[in-house]
Amino acid sequence: QKFVYDFTEGNKDLKDLLGGKGANLAEMTNLGLPVPPGFTITTEACKVYLDTGAEPAALRAEVSAHLDALEQQMGRRLGDAADPLLVSVRSGAKFSMPGMMDTVLNIGLSDASVGGLAAQAAAADGSGDRFAWDSYRRLIQMFGKTVLGVEGDLFEEALERAKQAKGTSDDLDLDAADLKAIVEEFKGIVRDHTGRDFPQDPREQMDLAVHAVFDSWNSDRAKLYRRQERIPGDLATAVNICSMVFGNLGADSGTGVAFTRDPASGHAGVYGDYLQNAQGEDVVAGIRNTMQLAELEGLDKTSYDRLMTIMETLENHYRDLCDIEFTIERGKLWMLQTRVGKRTAAAAFRIAVQLVDQGLIDLDEALHRVNGAQLAQLMFPRFDEATKAERVAWGIAASPGAAVGKAVFDSYTAVKWSRSGEQVILVRRETNPDDLDGMIAAEGILTSRGGKTSHAAVVARGMGKTCVCGAEELEVDTKKRRFTTADGKVVEEGDLISIDGSTGKVYLGEVPVVPSPVVEYFEGTLHAGADEQGGLVQAVHRLMAHADVRRRLRVRANADNADDANRARRFGAQGIGLCRTEHMFLGEERRREVEQLILADNDKDRDTALATLMPLQKGDFVELFQAMDGLPVTVRLLDPPLHEFLPDITELSVRVALAEARKDPNENDLRLLQAVHKLHEQNPMLGLRGVRLGLVIPGLFGMQVRAIAEAAAERRLGGGDPRPEVMIPLVGTVQELEIVRDECELVLAEVAAATGVKLDIKLGTMIELPRAALTAGQIAEAAEFFSFGTNDLTQTVWGFSRDDVEASFFTAYLEKGIFGVSPFETIDRDGVGALVEHAVREGRKTRPDLKLGVCGEHGGDPDSVHFFHRAGLDYVSCSPFRIPVARLEAGRAAI
Ligand code: ADP
Ligand code: MG
Ligand code: MG
Repeated sequence: QKFVYDFTEGNKDLKDLLGGKGANLAEMTNLGLPVPPGFTITTEACKVYLDTGAEPAALRAEVSAHLDALEQQMGRRLGDAADPLLVSVRSGAKFSMPGMMDTVLNIGLSDASVGGLAAQAAAADGSGDRFAWDSYRRLIQMFGKTVLGVEGDLFEEALERAKQAKGTSDDLDLDAADLKAIVEEFKGIVRDHTGRDFPQDPREQMDLAVHAVFDSWNSDRAKLYRRQERIPGDLATAVNICSMVFGNLGADSGTGVAFTRDPASGHAGVYGDYLQNAQGEDVVAGIRNTMQLAELEGLDKTSYDRLMTIMETLENHYRDLCDIEFTIERGKLWMLQTRVGKRTAAAAFRIAVQLVDQGLIDLDEALHRVNGAQLAQLMFPRFDEATKAERVAWGIAASPGAAVGKAVFDSYTAVKWSRSGEQVILVRRETNPDDLDGMIAAEGILTSRGGKTSHAAVVARGMGKTCVCGAEELEVDTKKRRFTTADGKVVEEGDLISIDGSTGKVYLGEVPVVPSPVVEYFEGTLHAGADEQGGLVQAVHRLMAHADVRRRLRVRANADNADDANRARRFGAQGIGLCRTEHMFLGEERRREVEQLILADNDKDRDTALATLMPLQKGDFVELFQAMDGLPVTVRLLDPPLHEFLPDITELSVRVALAEARKDPNENDLRLLQAVHKLHEQNPMLGLRGVRLGLVIPGLFGMQVRAIAEAAAERRLGGGDPRPEVMIPLVGTVQELEIVRDECELVLAEVAAATGVKLDIKLGTMIELPRAALTAGQIAEAAEFFSFGTNDLTQTVWGFSRDDVEASFFTAYLEKGIFGVSPFETIDRDGVGALVEHAVREGRKTRPDLKLGVCGEHGGDPDSVHFFHRAGLDYVSCSPFRIPVARLEAGRAAI
């Protein structure tokens, strides 16, 4: 087994083995782009190290051979005293994890070689001493922090003190002598805090750094990020050893980051930041103010032109937006990294269709480049433009959305407040990886420093969080927990602010929001041809149309009234998958009748109550069938436990007690209280509900079916095309279904005879109990369709009562990684999913034309939609607002 690959040996498709960074460095090398030579240690080597605690036996010799070859090629030896080769040791997993893993630059420098580096650099322009000592202090600082685990602040503070003593805030004012003194101080810090000296042997430095990168795979931050982004924990990281090039060699050197087009809007143009005389992460760390990439043209036209050509090559080669890291060493451009870049949701849609129009990709590929989560983001409301709210700053629009919350100034408070139900905005000067949990907890992130490529911006975009960064007018004081605006207003911790990640504007107080143009497009109030939002609406329109062409799954809505049904239709619903009739039992007047129905202890009273309810239900159905004319409407018969329709037990008890004290008892209240006591359940989720109700309350389901059938007949006679389907909930055995089925068929026949309308109303059931799924073959004998009620199925398969568990221990489960995501949000494929697959198989064996759908909340969840597609369902049903997401994902699942 080969554990080390030269950059010339890999390619971009080897991400599993070489990590994203290594695979793309190899790809650029093979494209003939100027990449400093180097090699990659594979993720396989890392896996062995993490499993056994030691490198694989063969690794050392293999690394030595590659290092020898690198030294030959560069004409220098690692850490050589007279002319040292220096390298960076860089992590790089399959998926980019910004700021999660650690990189060490300038490996190979030591007391012995720092003079050699200075002398070599000096040969060119005389600034060599400063450069060499600057590089050395960076090495000890990075190595001390990431490899030896010394508190990073200790170095920062020492550096800060040196600058203060010199009366400056700029690194560049520190000269060689200052930096040399700092190196001594840094070495002291290392000695004091690790009990050993900073390692002087270059190969030892390299090996320790490699192990540190391996170990960083399992750092807390990396684990948290992986859970958040659902990245598997067993991929491991590769390690790249890359010969150093220097951006800190003077004014004709520097380092930068760039995008091949604007990651926020998707439009073409020059986007990036550049920092002169700097190394590595200086440019994203907000240490000095960067210049815009476009300004590089005036500074170093040759390098700039070369960079532009390379960016075009990369975009055409990857057929996508790329982000890159580069360094200019004395006028020579070097490429240090590229990858397909993160982007905002709007940019993703625009870029996908732009690339189609450029002929680089086809529509199928374009559909893969966007996803339902992005579409959902675009459907968020935005701030009202015409608002009179007070704008106090205008920063950089780093990640879109409108966020309102209380200002907090540290991660700890963000997490604490959000746990207690507050919406918070995390305000920082700049963020770093330690702020990650605060960023997750916050509604939005606001920083006063840093650009589109700063940590805050990159991470927020990845998480789909609203972010405004670089709002420089704001003076953020995290110690005093407040910020001050340009005109002297002070915002304290807990004050409400609003930030607009689409425009970069920051407002005091709570700003009203307006609907998104994408929603207006779906609503039909905004024309698809409108070039609204820089082509965004058109892009959505084209990709939705293609998804509709491609998808096999039909998409229905969960809707209980005509309003929701109408909206669902506008959003593209192809029917109703779940109409909950209990919603028709609410409201003052109906509630009273339902109470009477429950209280009835003889047929006469019961029939009276049912007869009063019947026309009310029928009226609702007429409206619903009209809204969904020509499309199927699955009506679920009454499901929830009866006590939900009765008054609260405590309230009622007090009322009855008071009346008794007044010696004026109310007969009805007394009977109600008795009924409430009788129906009170320890565990209503598993109690008297669903088909069980239909079996113990004579006439209830019959009344509902009659209402449905008469409504359908009325619509038909009026020229409509009603297509109701009757669905029986919470069935556990075919016997239950058979009894209800007989009753329903009787009613249907009666209505048909009375109205003279021949009705074809299908009878089916929900599959939401494990027993139903397991005996689906038998149940299909009596059911013409199944609709998987995945909410209850998840509850009953896991033994979770959702209301009880989500608040109490789900956070702990998510933190411990027991779930990557709540099983109520994304279907649990291995457990609940396996039952669904079983039921599909067995059901279709009994009845090949069995219609299959899903009506739990999972119907609108992107991941789950892909699962249902593969499981072979006919449709998913979800809330009206999720319909576009389900359509898009169903299209993506099919290609
Ligand atoms: P990250 O994954 O955090 O981006 P990188 O490995 O890309 O970490 O390195 C951190 C910084 O150091 C980047 O700015 C990168 O461009 C720079 N860098 C890495 N290797 C070298 C090198 N061999 N020469 C010069 N700069 C380098
Ligand atoms: Mg980094
Ligand atoms: Mg990088």
